[in-house]
Amino acid sequence: MKKVAFYTLGCKLNYSETSTIARMFENRGYQKVDFSDSPDIFVINTCSVTENADKKCRKVVQEAKKISPDSYVTIVGCYAQLKPVEISEIPGVDAVLGAAEKFQLIDYLDGFQKKEKPQVFASEIKEAKRFNHSYSYGDRTRTFLKVQDGCNYGCAFCTIPLARGKSRSDSIQNIVVAAQEIAATDVKEVVLTGVNIGDFGIQDGRRVEKFLDLVKALDEVDGIDRFRISSIEPNLLTKDIISFVAKSKRFVPHFHIPLQSGSNKILQRMNRRYLRELYAERVATIKKLMPHCCIGVDVIVGFPGETEEDFLETYQFLNELDISYLHVFTYSERANTDAIEMDGVVPMKDRNKRSKMLRSLSEKKRRNFYEENLGGQFTVLFEEDIEEGMMHGFTENYIRVAAKYDPILINETKKVELREINDRGVVEVTEAEEEILVH
Ligand code: SF4
Repeated sequence: MKKVAFYTLGCKLNYSETSTIARMFENRGYQKVDFSDSPDIFVINTCSVTENADKKCRKVVQEAKKISPDSYVTIVGCYAQLKPVEISEIPGVDAVLGAAEKFQLIDYLDGFQKKEKPQVFASEIKEAKRFNHSYSYGDRTRTFLKVQDGCNYGCAFCTIPLARGKSRSDSIQNIVVAAQEIAATDVKEVVLTGVNIGDFGIQDGRRVEKFLDLVKALDEVDGIDRFRISSIEPNLLTKDIISFVAKSKRFVPHFHIPLQSGSNKILQRMNRRYLRELYAERVATIKKLMPHCCIGVDVIVGFPGETEEDFLETYQFLNELDISYLHVFTYSERANTDAIEMDGVVPMKDRNKRSKMLRSLSEKKRRNFYEENLGGQFTVLFEEDIEEGMMHGFTENYIRVAAKYDPILINETKKVELREINDRGVVEVTEAEEEILVH
C-alpha cells in the first residue's frame, strides 16, 4: 500500500480541498500518513495570496525530499495554477496540476511513476468550470464545508479569480446532504467556506439559487450545533441575511466582513463594490439586532495611492466602528493585477508602520470586545487545544476561552459564564450553573 502525505498552505478553502483529495486517495487504496512518516507520495496544496508563495513551496519540497528522497512530489492549488512551469522547475517536483485538474490527480498521474521530466497539467483558468464538492474532516475540530468557488469581482489587488476561475457553487440540495453526512460524525461546528460566498448560487454561469436560502436550509440540519459563515463581502451581506442569523437556531453571531480600506478614494481605486458608508451601516444593523455579535474585518495597508491622510481616515473609521478584531494585510505587489500598474507606490517602511498601527488597534478592539462580554453567559465548544492543564475553545461569538482541562468536555459544547481575561488574553470561564471549571 503506497503512503501519501499532504501539506496545505493558505486558506480554509485549501484545507477543505486537501481533505477531499486525501479521501480520494484513501478510497483508491492509498494510506494517508503524516508528513514525516516516510511517504511515497507528497501532495502540496499551494496558495497565491501567501507572502513568498514561491519560497514556501520550495521549502516544503526540500523538506519532503529530506524525509523521503525517492518520493513523488505533486504540487496543486492556486500558485500551481498561476505559475505551473516555474513550479515544475523546482528541484524535486514531479508533477504540477492546475485548478481544472487537481481533483483528478490520481488519474492524471497514473500510478505515480517518475518520468524523465516533471509533468505539468494546467489548462487555462477558463477551463475551471466544474464545482468540486469538498469538506475537511479529521484534521481539525471543526469542518470547513466548501459551498462556492471562484469570483467574478475584479478587485485591483487580487489574483484569486486568475487562480480559481469564475464564480460557481454547489446546489443547496447537495450541500444539505454533505451537512447531514457531517452531522453523522462527531463534528459540532461547520464553517461555510468559499471565495466569495455571498455570491453563492451560480451554476453553469447562471444564478439559480441564493445564499439566504442556503442559510435557511442549513439551519434545519439536525446534529450540527453551529454553522459559522467564514467571510462575506459587505455589499452581499444583506439585511435579510443578518436578520435571519439573528433569530436562527444554528448560525452563530459572528461575521467576518472584508473592508480593505476606510477611505472611499482607496476603495474606488481597489475596485471594491461599496463605500465606507455602506460598511458602517451593515455593522450598525448587525449590532442593533445582535449586540454580542463578533465582527472581524480584513484591511489592507499601503495600497498604491494610499497617502498618510487616507490611512488615518481608515484608522479613524475603524477606531470608531463597533467591531471586534482586524486581520491586517500589508499590500504587496502581485503580477497580472491592475494594482501593480498603479502609481503612488507606498514605501515599504510606511506600509510596515501602518500595519503595526492597525495591529495594535486590533488588540485594543479585541480586548474591548472581550471586556464588554465579561459576566455574560455563552456556549463554548472545547477543542483539543490543551496547554499547561487548561483546555481552550471558542464561544459562539468567537471569544477564545480557557477552563481547567477535563477530558470529558473535549469536543463538547458547554454553557459558561465569562469571568476574566487572563494574562494571555484568553477569557477564563466558570460553568454557567456555578460549578467551578477554573480553580
Ligand atoms: S471579492 Fe475581490 S478580493 Fe475577494 S476573491 Fe473576489 S476579486 Fe479577490
